[in-house]
Amino acid sequence: MDAIVAREPGGPETLTLLDVEPPEPGPGQVLVRTEAIGINFIDTYHRSGVYPMDFPLTPGGEGAGVVTALGDGVDSVAVGDRVAWTASASGSYAAQVLVDAGHALPVPDGVDAETAAAIPLQGMTAHMLVDGVTRLEPGQTVLLTAGAGGVGLLLTQLAVARGARVITTTSSDAKAELSRAAGASDVIRYDQFDDLTTGLPARVRELTDGAGVHVAYDGVGKDTFDACLASVRRRGLLVLFGGASGQVPPVDLQRLNQAGSLMVTRPKLFDYIADPAELAWRAGAVFEAVASGELQVRIGARYPLAEAARAHEALEGRQTTGKVLLVP
Ligand code: NDP
Repeated sequence: MDAIVAREPGGPETLTLLDVEPPEPGPGQVLVRTEAIGINFIDTYHRSGVYPMDFPLTPGGEGAGVVTALGDGVDSVAVGDRVAWTASASGSYAAQVLVDAGHALPVPDGVDAETAAAIPLQGMTAHMLVDGVTRLEPGQTVLLTAGAGGVGLLLTQLAVARGARVITTTSSDAKAELSRAAGASDVIRYDQFDDLTTGLPARVRELTDGAGVHVAYDGVGKDTFDACLASVRRRGLLVLFGGASGQVPPVDLQRLNQAGSLMVTRPKLFDYIADPAELAWRAGAVFEAVASGELQVRIGARYPLAEAARAHEALEGRQTTGKVLLVP
């Protein structure tokens, strides 16, 4: 079967299409014929070695398809079921993928395979951020970096649905337009400041009568952490959920005191879906919101599986919006 393999950590060029033996499901696993594969920023951390992985590596922790075989002891899923999945393990950039039965999420009728592959990781992350890490309340104002990204467009919609006012940042007018369409009330071009660390908080405070935001959600990390911290109001919260621009260096906790008794958290999705009941609840909420049309999923780009390297270049090059998919 076709699979993308990186022999060692490195740049996008390490992602090569190979013909490999299809895997066989072990106890508790199902084999899925993939119909669409979700690309996520974390895949680039795995490929490049930012997060240590075993190599050779087939990246990817998300997709959707049809179950073709069951391992021993699986009774929650049947051959022929349409499922989607996300897992902290890799292996999804392939024509056939092993999925733990407990992570095989039923895809509702009316949700197509590409949409299903686009939802689990970014959708449940957005859900975790508004309903888990924080419980957003009507009337709160939030700041979100990379508002036109995969997580960004979904998080904006979920936050607006909870009655929050959402201020986002983007690096182009086209991205700003998408972010506004998702519900952002104000979009800041953070690529245009001479000094982002002072320029962004100054603009955020202008937009919030000097107070700052209740919550800043930052998935950009290294370049934006200081600016986000300075944009949060007294006793507010900074949620650092990723490092698209690089990882944030160690922080002196005394800064939180000086900036107004702030709180900072660094969550990861898998701690918010480790409990099977929580996974089922979060996945159900997100799939239902998509099926009912309440949550719009934007597929920004599709690449053939063989062109995974080009997809990673685009994602890391800030060229993409919404979800990026691989099609086997
Ligand atoms: P996105 O689609 O948001 O792509 C990343 C975006 O980050 C870019 O489009 C770009 O938007 C912005 N960006 C700013 N600076 C840079 C830079 N130097 N290099 C690349 N991109 C930059 O990706 P995802 O939605 O997949 O992920 C968003 C973030 O959320 C990532 O940091 C990811 O690791 C994190 N994440 C965390 C999870 C968790 O469990 N904690 C789960 C899922 C995702 P612009 O051009 O507008 O600046």
